Amino acid sequence: MTLNEISELKKQIILYGKKLGEKNMSPATSGNISARCADNILISGSGTCLADLSEDEIVLIDRNANLIDGKIKPSSERNLHTAIYAIRPDINAIIHCHSPYASAFAVCRIPLSKPIISENVFYFGEIPVAPYALPGSEKLVENSAKFFAKHNAVLLANHGIILGAKDIKSAYYLMETAETYAQIYLNSMLLGGAKELSKKEIEELYALRCAAKS
Ligand code: 13P
Ligand code: ZN
Repeated sequence: MTLNEISELKKQIILYGKKLGEKNMSPATSGNISARCADNILISGSGTCLADLSEDEIVLIDRNANLIDGKIKPSSERNLHTAIYAIRPDINAIIHCHSPYASAFAVCRIPLSKPIISENVFYFGEIPVAPYALPGSEKLVENSAKFFAKHNAVLLANHGIILGAKDIKSAYYLMETAETYAQIYLNSMLLGGAKELSKKEIEELYALRCAAKS
């Protein structure tokens, strides 16, 4: 990648980090963003505010999470990001955040699995909950990365949410979709519970998803 292309990718990370902040999905210095950069990975620095990133707060690491270029420490969740990239060659961008609605489900350890909104069945199927482990730990990597073999998004118990997509813009949209899903799910509980889609209606959505992928 040329220096210009790297700078472009950093600008994308900054843009969508800002949007996460505007939607209250990345309070204070919570969360991290990364994107594949040829064989390496650009990732937000540890302790940075996603809503307010500058280019020198985004650093370059290799696929083993070693720092290659940058003056600050890479995100403490760098090993989780690299583990997900290793499992999923189709994922080129990852966002982890502590967005309030998805995180409410994460702290209650309730998966976002109720088939109540067609858009969410289409994009996620379900969002499972990975067992709790200390943020930034190897155990968190062990507990959560494996879910990406079958899912694009995972709730981290008592912590937040992490998801991946083909590029940063898609990852951001997926995060908005997941957060909205969690908000609607919670509101529907206050109203006495949503009516679930039928098995046939879910199968139709899965068929639509398969057709969209081919
Ligand atoms: P970093 O600032 O080190 O990326 O950590 C934020 C976070 O959300 C840890 O889980
Ligand atoms: Zn976190």
